[in-house]
Amino acid sequence: MFLNILIVLFSISLAALGGWWVGRRGQNRWPDSLPSPRLPRDEQERKRRDFVANVSHELRTPVSIIKGFSETLLQDFDTLKEGDQKKFLEKIQRNSGRLHSLVEDLLSLARLDSPESGFEKQHCDLKQLIERATDDFKSGMGEDSITINLKIPEGNFSVFGDEDRLLSIFQNLLENASVHAMGLSKISISLEKDGDSFVCKVEDDGQGIPEVDLPRVFERFYRVDKGRSRQRGGTGLGLSIVREVVEAHGGSIRVQSKQGAGSIFLVRLPSAP
Ligand code: ADP
Repeated sequence: MFLNILIVLFSISLAALGGWWVGRRGQNRWPDSLPSPRLPRDEQERKRRDFVANVSHELRTPVSIIKGFSETLLQDFDTLKEGDQKKFLEKIQRNSGRLHSLVEDLLSLARLDSPESGFEKQHCDLKQLIERATDDFKSGMGEDSITINLKIPEGNFSVFGDEDRLLSIFQNLLENASVHAMGLSKISISLEKDGDSFVCKVEDDGQGIPEVDLPRVFERFYRVDKGRSRQRGGTGLGLSIVREVVEAHGGSIRVQSKQGAGSIFLVRLPSAP
């Protein structure tokens, strides 16, 4: 059993070293996106290599943990204390959850990158989508530690877009706001018309984002607190997916934040013609 645990710890150290090495190799630790056809060939190749290295690094730790602890359970099942059996199973469950989220996010990115994936665009009511995301979120919360204030006036909020993907923007931003809440927390969502577009603000009073990290939070795999994000199953891909979905609809997203004083994510989407 101890040999197996040693192997797991060794694999995790190797994975950490791998991540450090990936970081040391280039100036830009985490690539912003998969190669775009507009980039020069060398740059495309470098981005592709970095992306593959990052994905492998992210996969390696949970896979090593699942492998090591399941082997230990199988080999030493009869001699392990009941408490340890449960602890090992919990580790396996947590890390398979991490793998699942990562694979889901990578699939979303692959679909966004694929030119033939095609969005199923139709007229959608942004107000209804935000209300749906908020209702789903509230029913999943189970407790009242977070209050959500919706400020959406009456009116026409029609956009031309892919309903599921648009919904995922607000689900993601709500999820992030709640994850980074500090104790009892408040999230405010507002929607208003601004010329030919709609602006949706998702504001929280959580821990905020340090100024130095602000320009990078929409990059793939960028996390402010890498350890804590991984611990709670974050992939570091959520905001990059949100940005790509928004941009694929002709919109833009930006963030204003101050450490310790909450964050505001502003999503701008063109109104339907
Ligand atoms: P993750 O899977 O780590 O949540 P995201 O791409 O969704 O990845 O977010 C990138 C980073 O931005 C997160 O690691 C987190 O540190 C920071 N972040 C995102 N949303 C918020 C928020 N509402 N409040 C504070 N920090 C946030």
